[in-house]
Amino acid sequence: MTDVSFAFPEKNVLVIGSGIGGLSAGIILAELGFQVTIIEKNPQPGGMMRSYNRNGIACNVGVHYLGSLDKGQVLDRLFDFLGVARQIPIKRMGAGGVIDRYYMDSNLLPKGTFDMPEGLDAYEQNLHQTFPRDQKQISAIMENLRSAARKINSLEFLFSGQNDFEILDHSRPMGELLSHWNCSPGLRAVLGVPAAWIGVPLSVCPSFYHNMVLSSYLLSSWRLECSGTQMVEVLAVRFVSLGGRIITGDAVAAVLVNDRVATGVRLDSGRELKAPIIIGAVHPKIILGMLPEKAVKPSYRKRISRLEDTHGISAVHVSVDAAEHPELDHNLFKIHTRPDGNIDDMIFYQMRKSEQTGKNLLTILLGGQDELWEKWTGTRTGCRGLDYKAAKTREAEKRVQEAQSLFGALGDYQILDVYTPLSIRDWVGSPQGSAYGVQRSSKQILSAALLNRTAVKGLFLAGQSVLAPGILGTIIGSLVTIKFIIGPQWFKQAFS
Ligand SMILES: Cc1cc2nc3c(=O)[nH]c(=O)nc-3n(C[C@H](O)[C@H](O)[C@H](O)COP(=O)(O)OP(=O)(O)OC[C@H]3O[C@@H](n4cnc5c(N)ncnc54)[C@H](O)[C@@H]3O)c2cc1C
Repeated sequence: MTDVSFAFPEKNVLVIGSGIGGLSAGIILAELGFQVTIIEKNPQPGGMMRSYNRNGIACNVGVHYLGSLDKGQVLDRLFDFLGVARQIPIKRMGAGGVIDRYYMDSNLLPKGTFDMPEGLDAYEQNLHQTFPRDQKQISAIMENLRSAARKINSLEFLFSGQNDFEILDHSRPMGELLSHWNCSPGLRAVLGVPAAWIGVPLSVCPSFYHNMVLSSYLLSSWRLECSGTQMVEVLAVRFVSLGGRIITGDAVAAVLVNDRVATGVRLDSGRELKAPIIIGAVHPKIILGMLPEKAVKPSYRKRISRLEDTHGISAVHVSVDAAEHPELDHNLFKIHTRPDGNIDDMIFYQMRKSEQTGKNLLTILLGGQDELWEKWTGTRTGCRGLDYKAAKTREAEKRVQEAQSLFGALGDYQILDVYTPLSIRDWVGSPQGSAYGVQRSSKQILSAALLNRTAVKGLFLAGQSVLAPGILGTIIGSLVTIKFIIGPQWFKQAFS
């Protein structure tokens, strides 16, 4: 990457938050010659990318699998931009021909299951075999999917000078397209999974967005061969090696604004840091709460505060006997659908090796159960009381029993940990524990568009809410933010 900072009189940048959004934005700006300080409220950096240990086993929070990491594919190229390509140990999934196996409780699938393999051609073939009456529909779906895969993989939209990802928000909802093509409910159910995985119902999920998620995993899928915390360390070490500074354990309390121009931040400790460029790599509503009342117009405040967020996710981590339950190199999804093929709820399962000899780790993720934990909304982590603990145990036991219908008897299992949307809310500050931040649904196309810029000069946003969630979507979002900061010409030059 070329140093372009000579073109900018002021080189100091402050980044609020050290998740993948803050770290990726910080690394790229440091590579471009800026002096970057990342401020993190927690004692350690990484946000949802981090893992935590239970009984010597690393439990991941927000990285269960990654798409498009084969050499030259889009996430590999982005890791290359960040200077961390091939430094994060990863393992390819799907050697047995399956990346994701969907189990549906309805009779919408002839065999009750659908396998998502690696590769767009193999996926098309599986769709044709499973839904022989939807031949024309599948061809139309695949044409769109291939076109989206090409666009994402080339990253051309970033460098072409057009309005980034305009296509994403302007495309029709996937559910509407499937109705237009008269797809069978079974086909709709299968195609609903990637949208449901990122918290957007198919009926309101822009098709380009759906295709971006699906194609990124179809191109190739990978698991970390290290813990989430080790992935954070690779990124943090890279950032510091470029001269970046990370302040941990001190939250940003306020963004300092003078005459609608950002001038710095004030931390919880009272310390003030000054810089002409500030990036809020946290949820946009958190940044809004940091701004003085008159810093933005009421219309901007209303727009951001009314954004609808994705639901929360709860997780259960269970250690099981490795001999009885060997590692699976694909994920399982148990899906509950309506007769029309729309997905009501979905559970994600992953069985993988752990750091403890003889033990494997079963991870169970459930979305959209936020109401279960509502009673404790007013409490903070560590102070929720025994009834919360009991509710978590009950929920975990229920989910373990359910899992046995897929894995067989789990025998001498041990529940290692349960986290709820409230845990996520308190750990990273995302509103109500929303897993993927702002919901990029067709219902809020205009209000959620171009969140990278704010109504305050010098204040920009990054993180999963600005463009798309996931490690891939969040890094692309950071690049778009940097393009706004340095301008399209310098951006093109920097990456040429
Ligand atoms: C359960 C779950 C499973 C997931 N699985 C996958 C997956 O398999 N693959 C995938 O690609 N993606 C997955 N994701 C999504 C992915 O983890 C996120 O999209 C991504 O980590 C978001 O990064 P971020 O930087 O936007 O936010 P965060 O990681 O939330 O980072 C924000 C940071 O800002 C800090 N912060 C907040 N407020 C302040 C403040 N006032 N001052 C200073 N710091 C502050 C927080 O502590 C945090 O460290 C998953 C998410 C969840 C919840």
